[in-house]
Amino acid sequence: MSFIILLFIFHWYISLFTQTFFLHRYASHQMFRMNNFTEKFFFILTWLSQGPSFLEPAAYALMHRKHHRMSDEDDDPHSPVKFSNWFKFMFKTFDEYRAFKDDVAKNKYKDKNLPRWPKFENIVDTYTVRILFALSYITFYIYFAPNLFFFLLIPIHILMGPIHGFIVNWFGHKHGYRNFKMLEDNSKNTLHIDFLMMGELYQNNHHRYPQKMNFAVKWFEVDFGFYILKILHFLRIITIK
Ligand SMILES: [Zn+2]
Ligand SMILES: [Zn+2]
Repeated sequence: MSFIILLFIFHWYISLFTQTFFLHRYASHQMFRMNNFTEKFFFILTWLSQGPSFLEPAAYALMHRKHHRMSDEDDDPHSPVKFSNWFKFMFKTFDEYRAFKDDVAKNKYKDKNLPRWPKFENIVDTYTVRILFALSYITFYIYFAPNLFFFLLIPIHILMGPIHGFIVNWFGHKHGYRNFKMLEDNSKNTLHIDFLMMGELYQNNHHRYPQKMNFAVKWFEVDFGFYILKILHFLRIITIK
């Protein structure tokens, strides 16, 4: 397999890991604790892996909590039931995220446990840094891609965070099976074994039990993200509550 493809797969999973581990399970649901140093380490890892599409953990968390409260209702920040068009769906999500980011910047939020690192975020969350990041991907492909066909992967690298968000929120609320019949929302488990999104595609299980660490419920379901949490807990990098 080409070295570029391996690197692409690595980028996919490291970026997905920071999203599910740091932004979702830690910042949004606070399923475990970590010390200040470790938190800063994961801040940096999240930024490095999401690159041009880095999402601030606190703003992500506020938006995600709203998604749980309003799931597939009118005020859901991203519901495929409410938005039939992919672009409208993504623009609405972006708008909501931006509004929450403003609230975070102005300290207009209640939960003071949300992970924040303003000095760091003010540097990395800028257009200059995002553009430099994107240019570095392009430069890398110019030097190492065996042919032009591989350049099609560049937009995916650049938009990695939103692409993951799109897959989870669109497919996870539209396609798949349900273990729990819920009147409130349209959440689905998209894959029986979620090898693609590290457990994030068990939306139906997760909406039924939002604080349950293992998103898998049935014997055949495997939440890989959960096993990584267990290992990090065993290594004393995090403390599961
Ligand atoms: Zn959901
Ligand atoms: Zn959640």
